[in-house]
Amino acid sequence: MNRTWNRIVAVGMCLGLAACGADPENPGTSPDAGTSNAGACTLTANTAETSTVSPSGCPLLTRDTSACEAERKAQGLSGYWLQFSCRVSLSSTTTNGLKMVRAQADGQPDYKSFYFSTTNACYETYSGAIRNPNSIVAQRYTIDFPVVQSMLSQAMRGAIVGLALNGVPIFGNFAAPGDDIFTEAKTFDRCGAHPQNTGVYHYHSEPYALSYDDARFIGVMRDGYPIYGRKDADGSAPVLDSVGGHTGLTADSPETPVYHYHVHEQTSTSSGTLGQKQWFLTTGTYRGEPGGCVGCN
Ligand SMILES: [Zn+2]
Repeated sequence: MNRTWNRIVAVGMCLGLAACGADPENPGTSPDAGTSNAGACTLTANTAETSTVSPSGCPLLTRDTSACEAERKAQGLSGYWLQFSCRVSLSSTTTNGLKMVRAQADGQPDYKSFYFSTTNACYETYSGAIRNPNSIVAQRYTIDFPVVQSMLSQAMRGAIVGLALNGVPIFGNFAAPGDDIFTEAKTFDRCGAHPQNTGVYHYHSEPYALSYDDARFIGVMRDGYPIYGRKDADGSAPVLDSVGGHTGLTADSPETPVYHYHVHEQTSTSSGTLGQKQWFLTTGTYRGEPGGCVGCN
């Protein structure tokens, strides 16, 4: 199995041989494919692996955000916004009279994945999942998060429902129509994500490079509410409402209770009931009104 896999990878990379561009089974392969894989994966800059590793082998990362902290504070940002990777641009803006935090990101992860093309420096081999046919493609997202949130439940529409602190989009606990989310889960990479057919890499469930069975901040949903890991800041298991959140203290609001979401275990969703338990990021319903997004689908 491993040998076959390695051979397929080697053929895909062409190993820099000039003749491989003429391979009738790989007519689209350019002669110099493979040489670019020698470079460093620049997406991992400013990250450091911790000793916490998920069962799938993904190390939890810490991120050095010192290079963009002053600029963010000058924008009036504080708390968990300062935890976003410097690969994500953040600014304060006003849309239709409403204050927003605007995030711009390219959606690529800050770790290696077997979903990068095999010629990409950030490609890695991984045998723990079934690779779907798609590869990661850099995107251009501009997402507005309301600063003052509303409290009205409404169904999530579209694909991107939030943004993780490393700039990777968060999707709901559902698959595209006709697909089963628990079957899709078998295609998640080492760190728990996969790309759809236009190369949009995304999380449906616990993002292991950001949080694994802890209380860490993960990202912000499009309705402006933050999402944390499985636990509350005091280490306890939160009791959640029907949309997967609750009002309570967080590491970013240790004195004043605030509404926030949590990663939580679900055994059935609107698009799948047969799977094993998954630690999903959403219930498919927003607590508040989502802000706008350019580049989301
Ligand atoms: Zn909580």
